[in-house]
Amino acid sequence: MIDHITPGFALDVLKILGINGKDGEVVTAAMNVESRSYKRKDIVKIQNRELKPSEVDRIALIAPRATINIIRNYDVTSKEKVELPSLIRGIITCDNPSCVSNSREPVEPQFTVEQREPIRLRCYFCGHIIEREDVLKQF
Ligand SMILES: [Zn+2]
Repeated sequence: MIDHITPGFALDVLKILGINGKDGEVVTAAMNVESRSYKRKDIVKIQNRELKPSEVDRIALIAPRATINIIRNYDVTSKEKVELPSLIRGIITCDNPSCVSNSREPVEPQFTVEQREPIRLRCYFCGHIIEREDVLKQF
């Protein structure tokens, strides 16, 4: 179960996970529900699905307060917050076509986090700014 998702972004989280409901998985999504800590939040529950580290990294970009709860036999067996590092490496690419990270050189894209929520990233190489909408387009 992914809790404390930024309100309105549950469907983007499902998209990151590649879940569209057509594979028969049991999925529950709740949007804009009341939250004690942040007024409103989205929640996504998926059965029998482990999250890959790369998926958790992407979720952190659009829902930096999300928590990932593993539930086994109705008990929460682990509860982890996603982590948004101050330097983002290799998850998304720079929008600037003339950026060195888009050249044929094998340069791993890198961004510094200027703002956490909504996310605002600055390309380490060319200074280009990437905002949440641009990030979502890449997922
Ligand atoms: Zn760049």
